[in-house]
Amino acid sequence: MAEKPIIEVQGLTKRFKGLTAVHDVSFSVEKGSITGMIGPNGAGKSTTFNMICGYYPPTEGKIFYNGEDITNKKAYEYTNMKIARTFQIMKPLKNLSVLDNVTAAAYFGHAGAKSEKEAKERAMEVLHFTGLYEKRHVISKDMGTPDQKRLEMARALATKPEVLFLDENMAGLNPAETEEAIQLIRKINESGVTILLIEHIMKAVVSLCEKVIVLHHGEKIAEGTPEQVMNDPYVMEVYLGT
Ligand code: ADP
Ligand code: MG
Repeated sequence: MAEKPIIEVQGLTKRFKGLTAVHDVSFSVEKGSITGMIGPNGAGKSTTFNMICGYYPPTEGKIFYNGEDITNKKAYEYTNMKIARTFQIMKPLKNLSVLDNVTAAAYFGHAGAKSEKEAKERAMEVLHFTGLYEKRHVISKDMGTPDQKRLEMARALATKPEVLFLDENMAGLNPAETEEAIQLIRKINESGVTILLIEHIMKAVVSLCEKVIVLHHGEKIAEGTPEQVMNDPYVMEVYLGT
């Protein structure tokens, strides 16, 4: 029998006063996979992430994590789950060094470090893994966008997640930097972390994702391999705006 999906959502709906941001969206994320979520601005992608990560309660629908119904769990209860997102824990502290930022993050989450020694050791490990080790003493705000993005991932990894949510982690990167970000995401996945990512850069989606979910006006309009969804007539229409 196939393993239970690590994340499953059923009929997820979010209404903000008069606006339905997400409507009746269902999908699952298989353990160990990289799943992509695409769609035009305002499609409801970030709102979907926010519901799964416990920031907003869904108006309707259910969320399962490893088969457990977590629909009504609060954000703080998520600390005992192995879910991380690039901006779940506070944004990098601008005036702290890279090392101090990652060390601080190591105290968070289900595996929160119990001592300074443990936090520092874990931070060093994550800095090597993410390629930030050489920059560990640089003050965060003095780094460029690609390293800032890397730092966000390093901070999320310091919490030892089982699932990592990345919301437009490649925005603002040039093609070479995008390629590096793709490599890092693949390496994180190969280390055993399931990834759900929202991304506008199609090259990244195609090269990383086994499955892609397409949202438009809050609804799921397609789901399949990158090739399948990109050849879907409705998806093409939405993207070409015809
Ligand atoms: P995406 O991430 O796909 O660009 P969002 O999920 O951010 O889209 O937004 C979907 C819709 O929900 C948009 O119309 C947005 O303005 C609206 N929205 C998102 N968050 C809120 C909120 N907290 N309050 C009211 N409307 C919101
Ligand atoms: Mg968004």
